[in-house]
Amino acid sequence: MKSRAESLRSIAGQSFDVCVIGGGATGSGCALDSQLRGFRTVQLEAGDYASATSSTSTKMAHGGVRYLEEAIRGFDPKEYAVLKRALHERIHMLRNAPFLTTTKQFVTPCFRWFDIPYFEIGLKLYDWIAGRDGLAPSIYLSRAETLRHMPTLATDRLAGSVAYTDGQFDDARYNITLVKTFAAAGGETLNYARVVAFEKSPDGRLSAVDVEDQLAHNRFTIRARAFINATGPFADTVRRMAMPAALPRMRLSKGIHILLPLEVLSSEDALLIPKTEDGRVLFAIPWYGRLLVGTTDDEAKLDDELYVKKEEVAYVLRQLNKYLARPATPDQIVSGTAGLRPLVSSGKSAETKSLARDHEVELDRASGLISIMGGKWTTHRAMAEDTLNATQKYLGDAVRKCSTLTHPLLGSAGYTPDYWQSLAKRFGLTELTARHLAQKYGICAPDVLKLTEVDSDLARPLLDGLAPIRVEVIFGAREELAVTIEDILARRIGLQLYGWRDAIRAAPAVAELLTRELEWTESARQQAITEYVAKIRGLIEKAGI
Ligand SMILES: Cc1cc2nc3c(=O)[nH]c(=O)nc-3n(C[C@H](O)[C@H](O)[C@H](O)COP(=O)(O)OP(=O)(O)OC[C@H]3O[C@@H](n4cnc5c(N)ncnc54)[C@H](O)[C@@H]3O)c2cc1C
Repeated sequence: MKSRAESLRSIAGQSFDVCVIGGGATGSGCALDSQLRGFRTVQLEAGDYASATSSTSTKMAHGGVRYLEEAIRGFDPKEYAVLKRALHERIHMLRNAPFLTTTKQFVTPCFRWFDIPYFEIGLKLYDWIAGRDGLAPSIYLSRAETLRHMPTLATDRLAGSVAYTDGQFDDARYNITLVKTFAAAGGETLNYARVVAFEKSPDGRLSAVDVEDQLAHNRFTIRARAFINATGPFADTVRRMAMPAALPRMRLSKGIHILLPLEVLSSEDALLIPKTEDGRVLFAIPWYGRLLVGTTDDEAKLDDELYVKKEEVAYVLRQLNKYLARPATPDQIVSGTAGLRPLVSSGKSAETKSLARDHEVELDRASGLISIMGGKWTTHRAMAEDTLNATQKYLGDAVRKCSTLTHPLLGSAGYTPDYWQSLAKRFGLTELTARHLAQKYGICAPDVLKLTEVDSDLARPLLDGLAPIRVEVIFGAREELAVTIEDILARRIGLQLYGWRDAIRAAPAVAELLTRELEWTESARQQAITEYVAKIRGLIEKAGI
């Protein structure tokens, strides 16, 4: 990718066909679709890519078994259609980026014998709706088979289980890779570039955006023929910039996850808890050597502070521990995430947990702003397709076909699950690091590693015994527009999720490498470390771990 300075030069004061506001899953999906259709496209992100909701998901490419239950119980054809579409999208999400995705078996333990046929029928229905897009048929597991799969489960009253297969993906890296694929197709993109106002032409149509560079704190203008608001939870804020009288459409719902040592479950499979005390589902899913457990669903406001609270930790552990022979404790927690679901409301005041995860494209006829609201990660591509169809109609150009359904993301072409082995052999890597690099960069991993041929010290791990290596920091800054310690640890290499305390230990080394690459002064380096460490310590304290 271009450097930040080069990107700024290419976009400030320039004109584009389409300007996409937002660098989460939705904005990045829209930017890629737009550029591939041949529109000259620019994407602007106020913070870092995936720094909002798109890196705090449960990381499941799924239709959603919970929505299945709601579709059946409520006889709701709309829920059914959303589910069907998500199951279809799931398969393309997996195919288009095999290195960032995998399939997982989810085990649903049953403690009453009559629960077994209930879940068997439900999950067979899930298979049936997926049809040709199915990943693997759901199966019944006896009590003994269940315990072989998950030896740490509570044994008393366990009758057996039903297992089904869904998709899993690396949300932060998938997001970064969408952006890189967009840039490789010729798109222009910039993070830390906040849209602060629109300019309108005499007929009331949007003609330009005023952008504030969040690093240099100066402003510039970008002109475009169409503007797409893909800002997730912030959609109403941007809608009001263009149409001050607009009624709010977003209903936000906070969801948290905690990460525990994998030994808590001791399984390659994931656990599905089908009914929590507030009538939701909860997952415990193996995730890069940890166990990702969540989530919650609580109505929230945009300006609420977003962190994992002690009460939320207690709630999640309470649900999980009902299923474990040996309860997990708060001091075992290594990290967590908190995010806001950008749900779109129909006006009726349903609880957020029962709002359909559908999306809506809104065209404001007066200003021309196109807003894409709602949806979920799994359907980001379909959401982008619908948005670009509307954009094309608005622009009145000849119809250009959407090609993202089968467009492999950068790093995917030719990738196979054993790719890490050739990487290990060629560059003399440990299995741990080779697997990590293959899973984060796919077949682009040698581009990362070639920097170690010039400076072999960069091949050293950031922290002894862990997978990430120093060269990834340089690559993140040089090729993936990372500019802070958090950009690197949270979204480029995933160490912050692996462990908050590990991230604190790695911060000085990351800062040292960023200083080299971004020419920070000594005081800037010190300040970056102090701020990052204080932030993570604050998260640890608030979560009470
Ligand atoms: C707890 C939780 C679990 C979830 N689990 C799953 C799951 O397992 N599977 C699934 O499919 N979905 C899941 N989802 C849903 C999914 O994560 C979201 O639907 C998706 O990430 C939303 O992406 P987005 O791009 O719309 O929003 P965001 O990721 O929030 O991106 C919006 C971006 O717009 C930027 N922005 C805002 N204002 C401006 C401005 N003025 N100028 C420039 N940029 C701006 C923000 O900085 C932000 O980065 C989950 C969500 C949550 C909260």
